[in-house]
Amino acid sequence: MKVLIKNVSLFDGISETLTVDCYIGIEDGRIQSIAQQQDPAVAYDKVIDATGYTVIPGLIDAHTHIAMSDTFLALDKMTAEEVAIRSTVIAKQMLERGFTTVRDVGSNCYGLKQSIDSDFVPGPRIYPSYGAISQTCGHADYRQNRAQRSVFNQGIEDSSFMRQGHLILADGVPECLKRTRDQIFMGASHIKVFGGGGASSLFDPLDTIQYTREELRAIVETVTNYGSYVCSHIHAGPAMKIAIEEGVKSLEHATFMDDDIARMCLDKEVWVVPQYATAEMIAHRQIPLDSEILYQKTERVGKGLLKQAELVEKYGLKCAFGTDLIGTPEVHARQNAEFSARKKYFGSLRGLKQATSDAGELLKMSGLLDPYPEGEIGVLREGAYADMLFVQGNPVEDLDILANAENIKVVIKGGQVYKDTRLS
Ligand SMILES: [Zn+2]
Repeated sequence: MKVLIKNVSLFDGISETLTVDCYIGIEDGRIQSIAQQQDPAVAYDKVIDATGYTVIPGLIDAHTHIAMSDTFLALDKMTAEEVAIRSTVIAKQMLERGFTTVRDVGSNCYGLKQSIDSDFVPGPRIYPSYGAISQTCGHADYRQNRAQRSVFNQGIEDSSFMRQGHLILADGVPECLKRTRDQIFMGASHIKVFGGGGASSLFDPLDTIQYTREELRAIVETVTNYGSYVCSHIHAGPAMKIAIEEGVKSLEHATFMDDDIARMCLDKEVWVVPQYATAEMIAHRQIPLDSEILYQKTERVGKGLLKQAELVEKYGLKCAFGTDLIGTPEVHARQNAEFSARKKYFGSLRGLKQATSDAGELLKMSGLLDPYPEGEIGVLREGAYADMLFVQGNPVEDLDILANAENIKVVIKGGQVYKDTRLS
């Protein structure tokens, strides 16, 4: 199928200035040509006129949990098929909000990904970690009470959600290696670990360091052997230092950062993937949680992240767009609010690059585990996947435009139109 997009005002994902009046030729889902004139020798099956819109790369959310369509307590009462069916709704809505690719850092979305990639259901491309790996009593140990203690009554088998493989416990080097290789077998593009305490779990204080250096090193070595990388959930400063020293390449949240840690990130080319709009929401208790303990922990994280943004800007750290929304479709609907937060901290162009070319660069660190190796993502140039949006207004000048998904009129993924609301 050959598609031509004509009269394009193009933001290619990188340059500040738009290329105007150009033609984008698409063949088999990838960009064949970007030119100032239409090639008369090529016959196109479909021509789409982009007059009046800014064409930008499809957006990338580098921190999602696409299968998490309610609070943990609610998810724990659902069967696997219930969780999977609900995830198709979340996926479709993400695509309609302009996200043509997500990096999923913890959910067993294997069936969803297969169904999206075979075009059975609409949704974004997924770079999955599949099950996120945690130590027992670490951040992903979501047992809800201590009567669920292991051995006495089979431990995690009491938790339906953990049994489904969204979150995985592994202790000691051999178990860490086994679980890492299990995720790679399923097609994980990278591995997600929990290297420190978290806000949404009951039994691990925020300031804890999780995993020993030996365990972490074993996981990193295994993934590096596939040319890919480990990302780690992390809030506490000491835990961040250990993760960076042991070769973790993407810090999720990276909340309680200081100048030393920022310099380490710069030296070792480590990415940070914070969630500022979510931080603002949780700091103001706007996201439903299961208990008062969780509200207290998340409030602290929310306030910490807002300070961390200053360091990310000061040192010019590699930073990708991420939202980390966990909840019902109403909660996920706040995904685009992150654009206003990014504009506030980094300005429109840098904020937009964090969700396009920068995030694309991060995802391409998957090396031999890249599930979409044929083309680039997050940029619009020859050879890249034809993932693009028609936007009302110019988000390079004002990123707030993307905070309202209704300004995203057309969503194209792999050369195929998934949303077109130009007439409505
Ligand atoms: Zn997360």
